[in-house]
Amino acid sequence: MPFHQNRCCRPVAGNGPIGVLALQGNVSEHIEAFESAVNNLGLGIPVIPVKRADEIPGLLALAIPGGESTTIMRLIDQNGMRETIQTFPGGIFATCAGMVIAARELTGETRFTPLDLVDITVNRNAFGRQRESFESDLAIEGMNPPFHAIFIRAPVITRAGPDVCVLATIKQGIVAVRSGKKLILSFHPEISNDLRMHQYFLTEVL
Ligand code: GLN
Repeated sequence: MPFHQNRCCRPVAGNGPIGVLALQGNVSEHIEAFESAVNNLGLGIPVIPVKRADEIPGLLALAIPGGESTTIMRLIDQNGMRETIQTFPGGIFATCAGMVIAARELTGETRFTPLDLVDITVNRNAFGRQRESFESDLAIEGMNPPFHAIFIRAPVITRAGPDVCVLATIKQGIVAVRSGKKLILSFHPEISNDLRMHQYFLTEVL
């Protein structure tokens, strides 16, 4: 079944720019990828870095990039952004460390409490030091050819709640899910030279 027909589709979000949470991590890569995706689709939506809580409510969507989840989480709390992100009604595009931050619960991490944006349990460093980074061609429903995904110290989802659509799985666990207007990925689509994940988010998830 193609994406646009599956049971997880939700209505379109409101107006406003796409914000990329700009506290730490792959911020400029996501801004560039979203700018190119917006351009390809002829949507004319601005893409801006976001550092403060008061910038969030007007956004169409917020991207939480990969980086170091402990650092990003500490800065979210220091900047008083936790509640604003938790109550934000727009889209969420979270990758890698962003997946850790968006989780309901974590295994192997007790130093911080994630934001509980999606009903998933995440193993933060699922691959350990043995295998810090690798690449894999992911079979994702409705996406042909497969998406060449780059995993860097990647988390995996070990449990997904009933309202969560699983989009891709590898041997170690679930690596891509969608829940309403939220798209959560273990890998780094912003550095793979393939804009299909960003475009899918703009056209199908929002
Ligand atoms: N596992 C890292 C963390 O939890 C995330 C790695 C990444 O975003 N590339 O911070």
